[in-house]
Amino acid sequence: MIVVAISVLRRLIKIALSFWAGLSETKARPSASAQTSQHMALVQDPVCGTYVAVETSLKRIVAGKVVYFCSNECRERFAPQGAS
Ligand SMILES: [Zn+2]
Repeated sequence: MIVVAISVLRRLIKIALSFWAGLSETKARPSASAQTSQHMALVQDPVCGTYVAVETSLKRIVAGKVVYFCSNECRERFAPQGAS
């Protein structure tokens, strides 16, 4: 009786461990890639054509659209039609 119980317990532990390992593996991979893709999101500066990260770029709303710039100089140089 005891031997059977131990073997069953061992089997359960093995299943639990493999299940946990599979869970943590599938959990870690997509979240990590999603994080990197978010951090690596690039936008093009319309003035000089440089690609800048959204997080570090300078933003300006022009005609209801967000325009991203690499520097304050580009931001100042960008003069859309109609702006005084
Ligand atoms: Zn620029």
